[in-house]
Amino acid sequence: MIRLLRALIDTAALRHNLGTIRAFAPGSKVMAVIKANAYGHGLVSTALALADADSFAVARLEEGMALRAAGVRAPIVLLEGVFSAEQLGEAAHHGFELVVHDPLQLKLLEAHRGAERLRLWIKIDTGMNRLGFRPEAFAGALDRARALTVPALELRVMTHLARADEPDVIMTCDQVARFERTLSDAGLAGGQRLATSIGNSAGTLGHRRAHGDWVRPGLALYGVSPFAGEPAEKFGLRPVMTLETTVLTVRDVKRGETVGYAGAWRAERDSSIAILAAGYGDGLPRHLENGTPVLIGGARFPLVGRVSMDMIAVDVTGAARIAAGGKAIVWGAGLPVEEIAKHADTIPYELLCGVSQRVPLELQ
Ligand SMILES: *Cc1c(COP(=O)(O)O)cnc(C)c1O
Repeated sequence: MIRLLRALIDTAALRHNLGTIRAFAPGSKVMAVIKANAYGHGLVSTALALADADSFAVARLEEGMALRAAGVRAPIVLLEGVFSAEQLGEAAHHGFELVVHDPLQLKLLEAHRGAERLRLWIKIDTGMNRLGFRPEAFAGALDRARALTVPALELRVMTHLARADEPDVIMTCDQVARFERTLSDAGLAGGQRLATSIGNSAGTLGHRRAHGDWVRPGLALYGVSPFAGEPAEKFGLRPVMTLETTVLTVRDVKRGETVGYAGAWRAERDSSIAILAAGYGDGLPRHLENGTPVLIGGARFPLVGRVSMDMIAVDVTGAARIAAGGKAIVWGAGLPVEEIAKHADTIPYELLCGVSQRVPLELQ
């Protein structure tokens, strides 16, 4: 045993999930979203495991450059685009596809004198109010993009959904309708149409009309359900990351004694408390609540007391055979990260992205 705590990455599950997503959107290509270190799963290794994806999407230029440096030759989309001539030059050099959502980016492109071909995704804001041209500004942006003197320019269009994870909310239908209307108002219908991209994971799994030519799943690739009430396995998705740790010791705590900082948990009976190597220094939220399940030997036990920097405590009273050196699962196979996120009043995205630098990723 070398590592007390590690994030096991099931690359077969990654590939399986890509296949599952393809089955949900058989008419679409898949732009695999691997920003933020592939949601904590490892940027380069995830890209290599997902070599069958049609393209990759990242948020920042440096993420794309890291992929190219690792030999990834597939198309890479910069979801936020570029913000200086220097960034544009670098992006063009690496052949990145650029999202264009702000007039500044059109200006940079108009001043750009590169020889590389460029593929641009013009983003329309259909209600998210984050990035994108408002529908009334789209035709103007499109005209400027078409007038660019860039070799082999290819234009595509995209939007992003704000509430696709809420199945009964009408906003997704409204956004898709606004997107389609904006395109047809700009004359991009029939023979003039451009390739489109709409759905994230929730849009891909939950809304047939929200696919477009390219779906953009992130979370679902990692085997996590984007819908609050619905488990990932219902969609045939398998968890990719298992955060596995080690029992450091098991101690007797007498009734009435407290465990950990601030005495935040008091034993109501004589108890056995396992101390595990996982804490907020590894990315566990400090406010994980008492009762959060931890999996040891296939059974669930409740977290007790405060999360420390390097350790948590778990009530294993009555369980035989739990001892120092044993393994425990904080989330992953058998214990969905969606469930843990609820106990921390957050979303699985934040837990996965928050796994800290100290935690080694081990490919399986
Ligand atoms: C992060 C992101 C996605 C992926 O979202 P998931 O909910 O993880 O599937 C798709 N599109 C854009 C623009 C994003 O920023």
